[in-house]
Amino acid sequence: MPNTTSPENTVPLRAAVAALPAYVPGARGSAGRVWKLSSNENPYSPLPSVLSAIVEAAGEVNRYPDMYATELVGALAGHVGVEPEQVVVGNGSVAVLQHVLQAVVEAGDEVVFPWRSFEAYPIAVAVAGGRAVTVPVAADGRLDLPAMAAAVTDRTRVVLVCTPNNPTGPVVHAEELDAFLAAVPRDVLVVLDEAYLEFVRDPQAPDGLAVLRRNPNVVLLRTLSKAYGLAGLRVGYAVAEPRLAAGIRAVSTPFGVSHVAQRAAIASLAPTAQGELLERVDALVAERARVTDALREQGWELPETQANFVWFPLGEATTARAAEATAAGVLVRPFAGDGLRVSIGEVEANDAFLAVARSWR
Ligand SMILES: *Cc1c(COP(=O)(O)O)cnc(C)c1O
Repeated sequence: MPNTTSPENTVPLRAAVAALPAYVPGARGSAGRVWKLSSNENPYSPLPSVLSAIVEAAGEVNRYPDMYATELVGALAGHVGVEPEQVVVGNGSVAVLQHVLQAVVEAGDEVVFPWRSFEAYPIAVAVAGGRAVTVPVAADGRLDLPAMAAAVTDRTRVVLVCTPNNPTGPVVHAEELDAFLAAVPRDVLVVLDEAYLEFVRDPQAPDGLAVLRRNPNVVLLRTLSKAYGLAGLRVGYAVAEPRLAAGIRAVSTPFGVSHVAQRAAIASLAPTAQGELLERVDALVAERARVTDALREQGWELPETQANFVWFPLGEATTARAAEATAAGVLVRPFAGDGLRVSIGEVEANDAFLAVARSWR
């Protein structure tokens, strides 16, 4: 029997840690037929070639992974079109973001980011000892880059630009990003979080790599969780100028990407697999168009999504609507008092959600 009368724990937590908002995970399915559209996951299960790489790697897990993930970094560098020294991998791009912040933020430095945006941002900033400065997202769900540039002070160390913005969906445009970067001092780090890059079809979206080439204070943050369908294995990466990349690498968790994850990611980047995976992304983009067209026909006016989700700014009705969706067998992601995010999933799941959305009109 465990001792239930253990002495009181008086170890103080850091104030920033004690004050952290709890991360609310996407809802998980229980028994019965439930469509999970709550976490922006890829609905396709792994390709056979990726699955066999996973199975093979599973037989080798008594060994440590390659600490610097040399082969994966090489594959990613080739994929992006940069030098390997410009790529840093981590246990999902959320972890990589944490390492980026740890590499540059001193206690009390300001980190500017849009809100509402990715719910991991306030947590990552607080854990790094930074001070969050949030800038409201415009009513149409687009980032207000001029306001974000105006929020930069001489205490600002980092600006986070989420494009497409999670959970609202729109991308920033190349021209407005150029104007923003011209307005921000060159010693302020600008993180372009491109988690949904492969889903973007807007011709006005920026070319992240070209932006990085012109602006060495930019870091690109990318992931294999969404388009590549490896959310459960945790592989994200940063692309940066070499000196910055070395700093990010220096604070990264040792062996932060497991051997199985490295092998799965390498298999996913192989030309044939990549072609198949990007065809799946095309199918999801087509589904996105079908869903947004149907929603427009139902009379919804929603932000223009370039990601694998749709945003419903429902305000105070959000929580009740989410419960109705759950009751109808569709799990969605509510942000209480603000809105609902609904991922694009398999055709049947999207149809089930469209029926729910119709009932809300
Ligand atoms: C999903 C997502 C990520 C990726 O997270 P991983 O840790 O790589 O799974 C990063 N940024 C945003 C905005 C996201 O929505």
